[in-house]
Amino acid sequence: MKENRGNNFYGIEESRIREYARLLARTGVNVQPGQEIVVNCPVEHFAFARLVAEEAYAAGAREVILRWNDSGVNRLTYLHAAEEALALVPEWKGESYNYYARRGAGQISISGSDPEAYKGVDPKRMQLQEKAMDQAAAEYYRRMMASENPWTVGAVPQKEWAAKVFPGLSEEESMRRLWELILKAVRIDGGDAVRAWEEHARFLKEKCRMLDAYGFAKLHYKNGLGTDFTVGLVKGHIWEGGAETDAAGTVFEANMPTEEIFTMPDCRVAEGTLVGAMPLCCRGNLIRDFSLTFHEGRVVEYGAKEGLETLRAVLETDEGSKRLGEVAIVPYDSPISQMNTLFYNTLFDENASCHFALGRCYPTTVAGGAAMSEEELLAVGGNHSANHVDFMVGTADLSITGIRENGEEIRIFENGNWAC
Ligand code: ZN
Ligand code: ZN
Repeated sequence: MKENRGNNFYGIEESRIREYARLLARTGVNVQPGQEIVVNCPVEHFAFARLVAEEAYAAGAREVILRWNDSGVNRLTYLHAAEEALALVPEWKGESYNYYARRGAGQISISGSDPEAYKGVDPKRMQLQEKAMDQAAAEYYRRMMASENPWTVGAVPQKEWAAKVFPGLSEEESMRRLWELILKAVRIDGGDAVRAWEEHARFLKEKCRMLDAYGFAKLHYKNGLGTDFTVGLVKGHIWEGGAETDAAGTVFEANMPTEEIFTMPDCRVAEGTLVGAMPLCCRGNLIRDFSLTFHEGRVVEYGAKEGLETLRAVLETDEGSKRLGEVAIVPYDSPISQMNTLFYNTLFDENASCHFALGRCYPTTVAGGAAMSEEELLAVGGNHSANHVDFMVGTADLSITGIRENGEEIRIFENGNWAC
């Protein structure tokens, strides 16, 4: 039976779109027989969600649960809902996340919405809701960040998004082009995508093991844009990338596409200035031409030509939101970077550029971290916050020098690419 008759994928053959859905179900979340799979999806991408559900069932899912969202209604909520309503996420709603997480469910999240969906919304009102959600669904977030459950994030083109990436083109043409770039970025190009992903994961893992062997105490970043910055890495940090393993031992890919390897910064050790290398799309707003200056691990000065209010709200969310939780390395010649396209979507832009994240760390990026409490993580330098906001700093002239405990320096990045 044809379940998806009449889908409009802008001239792209449905078989290629389905291959992406299958890749998310198999290589991405890696559905295990009898497992529950939650699909988080904007309502406008229902046709793609159906393909994902079909592929998840085909892979043996016990039940596929859809959790729809709509940035249009979210916008109305942020603008008009009573403040008390924003500050309170009812128990049942938090439990709807925690319940499935506790049962070992896999999560497939589809991204793809207007990068400026929340332009003009008071960032403080969004922050109220985010904090309340962070508390209500604390168990869910903890399990996802610690990779106890498998999860994956993919992306589907959306009208306003495509128009931003390809200004001046018709809706048909910009949507088709964005689809083509997304499929290329996830290695769906007529060959064996599953194998291509396996090889890619192996390459990233080799880089991880090389940096693990160096065991750097600090990294120093410098480029012509004005970045001159030193960050500490926690003792016993582990570089991750390519693929992860959940609590049941199943391998999964958290992001599709992915080009990064990442580890845990010591949230108490950061000095100097980081200059944003691309606009940052955050909470449905754009932050442009921004910089962050750190002292003793904390942002002490910041600026932005556009989106300053959004940046301020991000930084002032809580104690950990002014500190770093992720250090990630992406070569300037990565395939996504070579597309020479500003995507206005973190899933793509963070995979085209070296980046950091403000906010919570990934516990799996330090030895024994998955079993540590929030307090134990903090004691080794692992940050905690309701936020995790990636921002890009990589440029064609970026250099990164690793500094070992004994002071020995090793150049790991030269002119934006691997030097070792
Ligand atoms: Zn990252
Ligand atoms: Zn991140």
